[in-house]
Amino acid sequence: MKVVSDINTPADMSAFWMPFTANQQFKAAPRILKSAEGMYYRAEDGRKILDGTAGLWCCNAGHGRREIAEAVSQQIAHLDFAPTFQMGHPLPFELANQLVEIAPKGFGHVFFTNSGSESVDTALKIALAWQRARGQGTRTRLIGRERGYHGVGFGGISVGGIPGNRKWFGSLLGGVDHLPHTLDIAKNAFTKGLPAENLTLADELEKIVFLHDASNIAAVIVEPIAGSTGVIMPPKGYLKRLREICTKHGILLIFDEVITGFGRLGAPFAAQEFDVLPDIITCAKGLTNGAIPMGAVLVQSHIYDDMMSAGKGAIELFHGYTYSGHPVAAAAGLATLEIYRNENLLHRAAELADYWQEAAHSLKGCKHVKDVRNYGLVAGIELEPMAGAPGKRAYEVFVRCFEKGALIRVTGDIIALSPPLIIEHSEIDDLFTLLQDVLQAQE
Ligand code: PMP
Repeated sequence: MKVVSDINTPADMSAFWMPFTANQQFKAAPRILKSAEGMYYRAEDGRKILDGTAGLWCCNAGHGRREIAEAVSQQIAHLDFAPTFQMGHPLPFELANQLVEIAPKGFGHVFFTNSGSESVDTALKIALAWQRARGQGTRTRLIGRERGYHGVGFGGISVGGIPGNRKWFGSLLGGVDHLPHTLDIAKNAFTKGLPAENLTLADELEKIVFLHDASNIAAVIVEPIAGSTGVIMPPKGYLKRLREICTKHGILLIFDEVITGFGRLGAPFAAQEFDVLPDIITCAKGLTNGAIPMGAVLVQSHIYDDMMSAGKGAIELFHGYTYSGHPVAAAAGLATLEIYRNENLLHRAAELADYWQEAAHSLKGCKHVKDVRNYGLVAGIELEPMAGAPGKRAYEVFVRCFEKGALIRVTGDIIALSPPLIIEHSEIDDLFTLLQDVLQAQE
């Protein structure tokens, strides 16, 4: 049998239809990662690439973790698959217990999925089911936010606020409204941490409630910090205000923590970092350090308890995936949480945040940089778009960075950085020095 490290990219790359990729452009000049260890990828041509994005915001403990590899291979040999529909096996029970340990207070229960998108759709369905279970079945409307990213399921793109992800796919879910997004460069450019202005954007929720009446609204879903659309910060106090309005009107508040979960901001979850308790939290990515697909939905005990009473001993939630609580994914999750505990990684972003912030803001004044924003181990660097070619400038920076040995992520003309939480000061220096060189070398 061929060992995986012997497999090279075939000359004919046409069969794999790549996701969120300009396939023709990519296949004409591919960028291929072959292996990874710690803070670095190795490209197929042998170059070391510093990982400025933790893969896709997921490899929080760095790459190539032996503990996860061993847990996964042992688990496959021991119990490769077992159903969790009216059956069980030990691992997801143990993993759920450990997740509850690190979750904000009141979160007593976990529903397992295979991705962030599935976590979002599961959370929305739980919200609708809970409203109905408590006798409020007219509450079917869902509220998202402009520039929100909640994955690519029909629920997720409906509550998500990215026109490009919606326009191809017809009428989507009905009964969805969007809050305004919270990016305001005119007022807040180069803010360190959360901006002080625009708290009243949260009050837009009251206007939506006024329009539809609370008796028709099930839930609000937001990312505490919007990641995929360019690192958009909530104004100080904004999430608390949303919480107050939701509580006042019996609307559930869902935090989509697929990016912010597992230490990205300096606490296990953003809910703890910002001291705001939602009713439901979605997560994925860092749950298994990106090594095996897995997501989870954490729910407050009052929601679970209501569902159990309404279920009267029969199936309480008609929802689940063949792979919910998959033994191999759960093994990866348990090994990952052990690493996070042993290396204190869920709090490391808080220790590095000041150093990271200064490094990020050193890009102020670089060519075409019109904003830098940061929190924990996340930064967004927004560039002035090229006339008539939105996104082109940042894309060129992305390509140049890869050539020079760093993986960054771009969305539109915004660079998003989110390195593994094991990053050291010297690697932070390397990342921003390289980026500075590339920015300064632009036309
Ligand atoms: N929600 C958020 C906030 C995300 O950032 C993402 C992925 N970037 C998702 C949901 C979707 O996750 P997945 O790609 O695993 O389906």
